[in-house]
Amino acid sequence: VTIRMKTLLLLLYVASSSAFPVAPETEDEDIQLVKVNIYHRDNSPFDGPNGFLAHAFQPGNGIGGDVHFDEAEYWTKGSNGRRYNLFLVTAHELGHSLGLSHSTDPGALMYPNYSYTDPNEFRLPQDDINGIQTIYGQSDNPIQPTEMLFLKGRYFWRKHPQMTEVELNFISLFWPKLPSGIQAAYENVERDQVFLFKENKYWVLSGYDLVYNHPKSIYDLGFPKTVKRINAAFSDENSGKTYFFGYPKKIINEFRGISKNIDAAFQYGYIYFFIGTRQFQFDPNVKRVVSVMKSNSWFNC
Ligand SMILES: [Zn+2]
Ligand SMILES: [Zn+2]
Repeated sequence: VTIRMKTLLLLLYVASSSAFPVAPETEDEDIQLVKVNIYHRDNSPFDGPNGFLAHAFQPGNGIGGDVHFDEAEYWTKGSNGRRYNLFLVTAHELGHSLGLSHSTDPGALMYPNYSYTDPNEFRLPQDDINGIQTIYGQSDNPIQPTEMLFLKGRYFWRKHPQMTEVELNFISLFWPKLPSGIQAAYENVERDQVFLFKENKYWVLSGYDLVYNHPKSIYDLGFPKTVKRINAAFSDENSGKTYFFGYPKKIINEFRGISKNIDAAFQYGYIYFFIGTRQFQFDPNVKRVVSVMKSNSWFNC
């Protein structure tokens, strides 16, 4: 079974490596994930389809931290009917493996009842972060929550995932040397850099700071002279590739259903393409448009 370990990594990261000596010392520190049948000799038999889906042991020797999945369940990567999402159940069980007990917060990962959330949109709820930090302490190097920036004309909008309001600012207030009318931007998350494009020039932000020796020519990035400007760009966090949509445009075969001139694009689990007043939600796994929304839907208006 291949399991996405994103949540385990997230939990471990939040707990931070330096805090780990607090955890009980064990001879067998491995967390084993196994699919087992009803009677599997740990005095906790399963109950056939539905009901108990999996269980995990608190941190400790040997079996401690291990996760058992009921092989009578229908496990799936998706969400249909009486099938259970393996990622979500694994995330919950690994919470137990790390020492968490159940939460009474219905929004928490550690709430005892299974409920489906799209794993692509999954963010570890605050209640679970609080729980893991109670055991392991706070991280010295916490993950910064993702902020979304939208630029248009002389303005930019900043949206924090935990807040409903959107903050409006002048671009010149933050970056006096940046021109208005930025036409495209993308973020390289690993290097914490944002590339901004206007006509045939580009600027780079490192964190919130403008890198000093810019603008530079887009032809330095290897674009042919036939490209006059970049309309949209985004960096695919899964493949590591960066896609550019330029003028004059080329038909992009990889994005079925996205054929007109793109105004902007970014990735937030799904890839969002902005075309006029509409945005197209593109699922990179099934390689098609799964939803069409109004362009301003990120602003809750
Ligand atoms: Zn078991
Ligand atoms: Zn549980």
